[in-house]
Amino acid sequence: MRELKCISCEKTYPTTEVRFACDCGGLLDLTQPLTELDGSELKKEFDSRLSSHKALDRSGVWRFRELLFDPDTTVSRLEGDTRLYPAADIGQSLNITLYLKHEGENPTGSFKDRGMTTAITAGVAAGCDKFICASTGNTSASLASYCATAGKTGIVIIPEGKIAYGKLSQALAYGAKVLQIKGDFDAAMQLVTEIGEKFDQENTANSIYVLNSINPFRVEGQKTIIFELFQQLSWQAPDWIVLPGGNLGNTSAFGKAIAEAYELGLIDKKPRLAVVQATGANPFYTAYKNGFPDNIEPVEAETIATAVKIGNPKSYTRAMRAIKETDGVIVEVNDNEIMDAKATIDGAGIGCEPASACSLAGLRQLVADSTIKSGETVVGILTGHLLKDPDATINYHTGKLAGIDSKQANQPQPIDTNVEAVLAAMKNR
Ligand SMILES: *Cc1c(COP(=O)(O)O)cnc(C)c1O
Ligand SMILES: [Zn+2]
Repeated sequence: MRELKCISCEKTYPTTEVRFACDCGGLLDLTQPLTELDGSELKKEFDSRLSSHKALDRSGVWRFRELLFDPDTTVSRLEGDTRLYPAADIGQSLNITLYLKHEGENPTGSFKDRGMTTAITAGVAAGCDKFICASTGNTSASLASYCATAGKTGIVIIPEGKIAYGKLSQALAYGAKVLQIKGDFDAAMQLVTEIGEKFDQENTANSIYVLNSINPFRVEGQKTIIFELFQQLSWQAPDWIVLPGGNLGNTSAFGKAIAEAYELGLIDKKPRLAVVQATGANPFYTAYKNGFPDNIEPVEAETIATAVKIGNPKSYTRAMRAIKETDGVIVEVNDNEIMDAKATIDGAGIGCEPASACSLAGLRQLVADSTIKSGETVVGILTGHLLKDPDATINYHTGKLAGIDSKQANQPQPIDTNVEAVLAAMKNR
């Protein structure tokens, strides 16, 4: 039997109750007794679904439904099933075996779709018609698409003028109600938290269902990034998994997935998590350096990587547990390092948005200081698609980003309209 369990005081609630927090204010986990499951049977079942044409099996989220929850109907866009690229050249330059898992290949271009399909499915099952989130961009794009898919009302609260154009255009295009506030993401998140506290169990249809990662069903969907990458590696765990950290929902989900996969025997060793924050939005890094105090010290966030421009991460306690349980580490990287790492990933033909490049920027640092040793196997998570933030990319290549060196700039070159000019330009390259 599944239930919702507070990670702070361990109080439990039935899954039929819509809840975004415990009475004590703690975050909730969706739990089930794993002893009732047989890991080796599950592995066989998951592998056999790779050749199935049933929609539920083709989704890289619902393929793993026994480890999430198994609803009667789902709101799905066949999300997940993203590529795991062997990044041999970048790996070789670091003396490691490197894979990049591209979550930007989800239906709306970020990993947020994995948590969106599970959370909207849970909300619809609870009888909800209105869905809301605070967003730095990608959650709103995902919510808007999934609400349109389900025929439900989507509302997104975003910091005015601070979200990347690709993401804003998606939220508008998919038909969500887009509410812009003068504050930052953290102010938007505070608003949504208060709306969640007003949720009326007796009147679900008129209440507003919260789709931020404080929602335990979001975390469940995002666990499948880990299950899927283990499956793609033939159930051999890598030594390290490196990811960017903002609101820390993904870090929480990764920790839970690794713990469950290990307990079930899907893998026989636990990979270590390395979370990478931008120096201008680094409260989790600071907490780690200070031995994880009970409460995180919020900062006013500033970074070019808008998806992680978050100063007061909501999933702190869950993410702290993930680091402790996986013997994980946390590092910080500056915007220059982020944009150079992005240029390397883009230049390899793979591409990602700025926040995703935290993975490679942090990885470089961890190899340089020998935390990650030569010969180890590492999976870097690319969280969002290159096209999400065209401004950041173009401004990098045209040298227009204040304080950024643009070391790997690929400038567009004006030429005369004749063949000689093309040939001359080729020689200059
Ligand atoms: C949401 C997001 C992040 C941050 O993930 P958290 O779960 O908030 O830590 C990183 N990169 C991209 C592209 C995102 O959309
Ligand atoms: Zn509690």
